Amino acid sequence: MTDKALVVFDGVVKRFGSLVAVEKTDFEIRKGEFLAIMGSSGCGKTTTLRMLAGLEAPSEGEIRLAGKRINDLPTWRRDTPMVWQSLALFPFLTVRENVEFSLRMRGVDKAGRRKRVDKWLERMQITEFADRNVAHLSGGQRQRVALARSLVTEPEILLLDEPLSALDAHLKVRMQTVLSNLQRELGITFVYVTHSQSEAFSMADRVVIMSRGRIEQIGNPQEIYRAPRTRFVAEFLGSSNIFAGSVSGVNGRTVKIATPAGEFIVAPDMVKPLAKGERATFVVSGDRVHLGCEPPADGYNGIEASVVGEEFVGATAVIHLEGTGRIEIKAQKSHDELEHLNLSPGAKIWVSWRPEAAHILPCE
Ligand code: ATP
Repeated sequence: MTDKALVVFDGVVKRFGSLVAVEKTDFEIRKGEFLAIMGSSGCGKTTTLRMLAGLEAPSEGEIRLAGKRINDLPTWRRDTPMVWQSLALFPFLTVRENVEFSLRMRGVDKAGRRKRVDKWLERMQITEFADRNVAHLSGGQRQRVALARSLVTEPEILLLDEPLSALDAHLKVRMQTVLSNLQRELGITFVYVTHSQSEAFSMADRVVIMSRGRIEQIGNPQEIYRAPRTRFVAEFLGSSNIFAGSVSGVNGRTVKIATPAGEFIVAPDMVKPLAKGERATFVVSGDRVHLGCEPPADGYNGIEASVVGEEFVGATAVIHLEGTGRIEIKAQKSHDELEHLNLSPGAKIWVSWRPEAAHILPCE
């Protein structure tokens, strides 16, 4: 355990009957960080959060909060409030009554409650709705009430389970900023479960990627994006081109890898040296490939491909291509970079990249 760890999952397993929802898990949540837990549906992210909140008991292992084992500590004694996707506000109570609820439960006197509730209504910019029934608020306003209700006890950690998924796209982006700023200003540890890469990557200091009950990778967004550890992570990020093959030559710092799409030069960014004949999978992210009409210069990698389609993604476009060996290729480029290219379906184009742009998956 490091000095910075607020929460430690130590060999934690969660089974529901014969189903293993979370496989043996070891990880730490650092004090004051914004940690996102991300993965597709059913991968065990909510179960992980619920174990931390005390809503599920681990089948094995130990969870420690600030150095103390909390496996057997009931939810109400943990001070790990949670904001839900459904928000779970009390529908017949006013905004003020919702926010002061947990202070009442803790026996805080009337004057103390008023002071704290006023502070959080103000902080979340919902003072003007204090006496309104929560049923009569917009989605964004209800979101702020749910946050105020969880933060009014000033906990050290806040758990959030897909809190923005019910909001429309515009409001979602606004609430992402509200949440990031809030977390930074308060210095509270946020643990945020989401299936959305854009939410996780835009807000979190570190991201945990889970698949089928297992942690595939933990790291900061840049690290994960640039250096995915497994094929699952690379595929999940969706922006990487994946080439699997075997090492056909080793030359100082670079290796050649033969794949069904051709032979490519890779300057491995990993510590372990690769030997001839060894299997290797590398990825090249879509923003690191270059598109052009000519084959690449010596020392670069290139593959001739035909255009399958173009997808408009705001400031950039994703060009879908098919290369030799029927390999799927994606290139993510700004509109300026694409101006002089023929991108009609079926058009031939050269895709190229530098040996340093490839990253070998260390866990394949
Ligand atoms: P989603 O994004 O769909 O919420 P998730 O990643 O949060 O998915 P979990 O809710 O943690 O996934 O579920 C992990 C696995 O455990 C799933 O297969 C789920 O069906 C199962 N599971 C979760 N809760 C229970 C329960 N109370 N009883 C039985 N199985 C459960």
